[in-house]
Amino acid sequence: MPFDTEIDAADRPLLIDNVWRAGGGGEWLPILNPVDESVLGRFAVATSADLDDALASAQAAFLMWRDVGPLARAQVLRGAAALILERADALATALTREQGKPFAQARMEIEGCARAFDWAAEEGRRTYGRVIPSNTPGLMWTTGRFPVGPVAAFTPWNFPASQAAAKIGSAIAAGCSIILKGPEDAPSGCVGLAQALVDAGLPPGVFTLVFGRPPEISEHLIASPIIRKVSFTGSVPVGKHLAGLAAAQMKPCTMELGGHAPVLVFGDVDPVAAAKTMVMGKFRNAGQVCVSPTRFMIAQSIYEPFVEAFVEGAKALVVGDGLDPATEMGPLANDRRLASVEAMVADALAKGATLRTGGERIGNTGYFYRPTVLTDVPETARMLQDEPFGPIAVLSPFTDREEAMVRANSTPFGLAAYAFTRSQEDAAFVARRFESGMVGINTFAVGGAEAPFGGIKESGYGREGGMEGIDAYLTTKVVAQIPG
Ligand code: NAD
Repeated sequence: MPFDTEIDAADRPLLIDNVWRAGGGGEWLPILNPVDESVLGRFAVATSADLDDALASAQAAFLMWRDVGPLARAQVLRGAAALILERADALATALTREQGKPFAQARMEIEGCARAFDWAAEEGRRTYGRVIPSNTPGLMWTTGRFPVGPVAAFTPWNFPASQAAAKIGSAIAAGCSIILKGPEDAPSGCVGLAQALVDAGLPPGVFTLVFGRPPEISEHLIASPIIRKVSFTGSVPVGKHLAGLAAAQMKPCTMELGGHAPVLVFGDVDPVAAAKTMVMGKFRNAGQVCVSPTRFMIAQSIYEPFVEAFVEGAKALVVGDGLDPATEMGPLANDRRLASVEAMVADALAKGATLRTGGERIGNTGYFYRPTVLTDVPETARMLQDEPFGPIAVLSPFTDREEAMVRANSTPFGLAAYAFTRSQEDAAFVARRFESGMVGINTFAVGGAEAPFGGIKESGYGREGGMEGIDAYLTTKVVAQIPG
């Protein structure tokens, strides 16, 4: 990374006013490799004085950027997208080293960042208003859509680059400035996006990147009158907390929170072929995906062969260092995940669940955990209440689709839900009845720059991507005019 000479190449600094710098307190904290817990580098800790600098810079930049035409904004975003693609191998390597996912998945994530910037660039050119017929002679109503103002955004470590890119691209395309607190566990993705934006000519202050102690940063930024919008991706408890801070100031939020996706597998699919596809979907990114399929409900008529094939598939997965091309699943991203997954599996087993495979850590250095399949998991088990966010699949049979749908909708989450069937009638039934923001039928691929991504119930509100993505950073103003 081309930082100034004061900063070590392995360190991940703050970007304020287009200058890479250490935190004012000179504090740096370690970035660990989840494969062996070795120190990869350090991230800078922002102080409240750094955050005040960031706010002043974002405010000044907003007053300028809101008046820059959409084509010029689009050119910067498209330039950054091209640079991200040019640098994709290096960015993906850093992502794998910090977060653990296999390199091929990291590369796809980086490519997704370029697509998100590209999509936002184009959507930013189509933020049309309208002319409304009025009942008062001579009076004309028009509406325009204007950037909401400086944004405070917070993104997590599971997709350290793409979750950030969705927010950054839309905010910048809409004419906002944005201060992002990136993920401290895996900061290089955000640093790479920031460098691409700077190199593509983004003026100082339009994008600011900070790291540090998350509660200190969110409290400071959200309380500031400069911030006009909050966007968060992460867990439900933290989302509720941040939404509360924003509500105290009447600031709008986008909340992309957790999920607990059900999968209905109907009796008309080939159980062995379906199980093979689903193993790859379940254990992608070691299950640390908010739309990860988790509660598999399988038609009783194909239950046994499906379970057998799924367990075989999980056992056969190659778990290892994500930089090894043979690896299909890497380690968990951090020690918090490892501890949480171990506790959830122990809880389910204590409550009577049957372990079909996995259920244990691999080795005692690094955060590796075996792909795990459980059956007979009682509803009281914690893994059916909280988001497992790990390599855990819970399998159970169903005989009646109405009963299965009640179970599918029984959690407080409502992010993604899936079904596998050849029946158009069953497909229409699940599309209508799942309580979720996204439904996948015969696929787990529900996310993409072009489609609105987000949830209902405790999974949050607001959408990223699609036409809706840019709306989150705009506000509508009506002008009533009598031509003078
Ligand atoms: P966590 O709940 O403490 O943190 C989740 C994310 O929020 C992290 O990126 C963290 O830096 C950030 N965060 C935490 N407290 C914050 C605060 N006060 N202000 C601003 N940001 C804050 O725990 P974790 O161990 O990082 O993740 C655990 C859980 O989070 C998982 O079990 C999963 O349920 C959820 N999660 C969801 C997503 C998602 O994509 N929806 C992503 C990552 C984590």
